[in-house]
Amino acid sequence: MEHRARKRFGQNFLSDPNIIRKIVEAIRPQADDRVVEIGPGLGALTEPLLERLAHLHVVEIDRDLIARLHERWPAERVTVHEGDALKFDFGALADGGKALRVVGNLPYNISTPLLFHLAGFAGAVRDMTFMLQKEVVMRMVAEPGSDEYGRLSVMLQYRFRMGRLFDVPPGAFRPAPKVMSSIVRMVPLPPEALLADDEELLGRIVAAAFGQRRKTLRNTLRDYLGEADFAALGLDAGLRAERLGVADYVAIANHVARR
Ligand code: SAM
Repeated sequence: MEHRARKRFGQNFLSDPNIIRKIVEAIRPQADDRVVEIGPGLGALTEPLLERLAHLHVVEIDRDLIARLHERWPAERVTVHEGDALKFDFGALADGGKALRVVGNLPYNISTPLLFHLAGFAGAVRDMTFMLQKEVVMRMVAEPGSDEYGRLSVMLQYRFRMGRLFDVPPGAFRPAPKVMSSIVRMVPLPPEALLADDEELLGRIVAAAFGQRRKTLRNTLRDYLGEADFAALGLDAGLRAERLGVADYVAIANHVARR
């Protein structure tokens, strides 16, 4: 039976075989990799992934699609986790020490909260390869000083090395989304690169700095830093959030934590 795409679940199904092949080639799955696909939908990526993988975990929220997935593949090939990827414990799939590979053509309506949720599992992950709207990918990989640079850039670049691999036009999907898409790869940085004493504090400081991005740091970070702190850090309090790099935010958070 035809499946009617559900807007509330961000359903835009990939239909271009060349793009599908290109994505799977970018993932480069090896038979015994431990892979989880978020939002398998009608299986556009699931099927070619299973040509190369012995087994695949999938996380899907739509009951109709879940029923189809069960019909199509036996449990030895595909483990279907029914539910919301925003609440899913990806760390639980990584047990046995084999680092998890996370892939998916993500539901665009929840992309930012999903990326923040996934960032929490960086320690259990080998890499992540996602399709997202291009505008979000540009924010993820943005450099200081650019308009796209913000909280998402800082918090993801703190934990991951990221690269935009290629763009995908709306015509590659049914129904076609309104926006351009891009494929992004995220590789967690080694634990010794994560230098913040208190990552939660880092997150709060970055959120405060970018909360009102037109104001100066003197204003936005008033709860954390006084003039003497800016001087000790060697930072100009008259700058705006977009001028500071990830290392500057880590230095601020560590200064506040250690003061
Ligand atoms: N992978 C398929 C493809 O490329 O054709 C479908 C991609 S579609 C953009 C997003 C998929 O994520 C849909 O199957 C949708 O039902 C599922 N989805 C939406 N919200 C979800 C959530 N919160 N948790 C898990 N899956 C979700």
